[in-house]
Amino acid sequence: MLRGSCLCGGVAYRAEGPVHHASHCYCTMCQKQHGAGAGSYANVGSAGFAIERGAELVVEYASSGQGRRGFCRVCGSTLFWRSTASPESIAVTLGTLEPPYDGPVERELFTETKPAWLPVK
Ligand SMILES: [Zn+2]
Ligand SMILES: [Zn+2]
Repeated sequence: MLRGSCLCGGVAYRAEGPVHHASHCYCTMCQKQHGAGAGSYANVGSAGFAIERGAELVVEYASSGQGRRGFCRVCGSTLFWRSTASPESIAVTLGTLEPPYDGPVERELFTETKPAWLPVK
């Protein structure tokens, strides 16, 4: 069982494992939404995903025809990414998990737009 919450604590969710894979996504949409070099996610089955608290605070932004990005409208924490084309899975953000995610991250996505400033030199 995975649990997560947003920065203000208004939203809490749970997700059942197993994590199918975890990834760092460097697509330009993730960079914009997270305000960071990547969006980091754990892919889990959507059947086991539930918002336990603050569902009224969760806003979904349609960043593409099929992509939906859930975030807290109070504090702005990014919570999940899902695709209407593959409703069986949902990607929860690694940074909102409590306790911290300690599994492997197997994938890097959209490395062609990985920002040049990301590695510490
Ligand atoms: Zn919040
Ligand atoms: Zn992305």
